[in-house]
Amino acid sequence: MLAGAVLSGICPVCGNRTRFLAFNDNLRESGTCERCGCSNRQRQMAWMLRREIALPASGKLAPAESIAIYNTEANGPVHDRLKEHPLYACSEYWGSKAEFGDAVNGIRNEDLQALSFADASFDVVMSSDVLEHMPEPYHAHSEIFRVLKPGGRHIFTVPYGEAMLRDDVRASLVGGEIVYHAEALYHGDPVRPDKGILVWTIFGLEMLVRLKEIGFDTELWRLRATACGIIGPGGDVFVARKPA
Ligand SMILES: [Zn+2]
Repeated sequence: MLAGAVLSGICPVCGNRTRFLAFNDNLRESGTCERCGCSNRQRQMAWMLRREIALPASGKLAPAESIAIYNTEANGPVHDRLKEHPLYACSEYWGSKAEFGDAVNGIRNEDLQALSFADASFDVVMSSDVLEHMPEPYHAHSEIFRVLKPGGRHIFTVPYGEAMLRDDVRASLVGGEIVYHAEALYHGDPVRPDKGILVWTIFGLEMLVRLKEIGFDTELWRLRATACGIIGPGGDVFVARKPA
């Protein structure tokens, strides 16, 4: 139905007037900005970042120099716009290829479930479709809470089903072995394009309760903004705020 659809507007990632090309049935991952190459999902993250750090809707994605940002990925158009920022940190998960906190090919190795950053390091943490890919996502949320400054926030997307009361835990780690509770589900991974990456959890309302237990005040934004190339469904972005 949407195959080949094109919108035009201002891209929240690159800030340019542009066209969003070739939407397809995978709405979140399509609608490529012809200026910066970003997807609908990446625009959702950038739209929310702009709102949270009070940047205008157009122009460069250039945070004020005092804002410390940690992006839990080190690739893609949002990263490309932020990487020159003086207080920008980014990482990928390289596992045992290096100590956590050290670099592999120039990119810091971090396990979100046990971050190597000091307490209260960041104003903003960003993660987009990351937390479903680890066995203990709430350890990661607790760690993100720890490294955020008071008043800081975690902007994130995850697979989320509001009709589900409980998280759908599809796999768990028992004694170092993966135990599957449902058919193994894999998502594409830009860092490991050959094999994809396991989905451990699809989140339900339980997530909002557990985030509150950790200490976060969480908002769910259901974004629709055709003038920014953001169309739904699949426009859910969470902002989890550490109280000031
Ligand atoms: Zn763009």
